[in-house]
Amino acid sequence: MFSTVFQATGFKRALNLCKEGKLDAAEVLLKSLQDEFLAVCEENEILKNQLSEVADVLDLAEKVQFDGQKYWLVDEGERKGPFCQVCYDRDGLLIHLHEHEKHWECQSCRGLYMIPRDKNPKPEKKTFLRTTLKKTIPLFLEQEMS
Ligand SMILES: [Zn+2]
Repeated sequence: MFSTVFQATGFKRALNLCKEGKLDAAEVLLKSLQDEFLAVCEENEILKNQLSEVADVLDLAEKVQFDGQKYWLVDEGERKGPFCQVCYDRDGLLIHLHEHEKHWECQSCRGLYMIPRDKNPKPEKKTFLRTTLKKTIPLFLEQEMS
């Protein structure tokens, strides 16, 4: 769109000035066209960067998961985190939570998140059930055989 405006206004006028022999005026015009062009290049670069930042944010949003309390970053099957929910929702920033004995703490907003305690006993219960089951069956068979 710009190039059309550019050619229609600036270049055509510069060409006409050259044809009319007004070389000084043509030079001034070309100089201003060059400045305009450089400014547009700069603006284009800024817009490109903004677009890439937006793409990164969208890409990140797809990888961020909420567990009902905190955020986790899932990238190529790997789960990183947890991250502060308040900071991400407010500033779009993933702030690593610092782990304490019974809670996580956000170093940025000082928010606290309880570490769920029921996560650890669960696998223990499973192994407990499995070992009792393994023991019960041979005992039962022995009793039946004798
Ligand atoms: Zn925070």
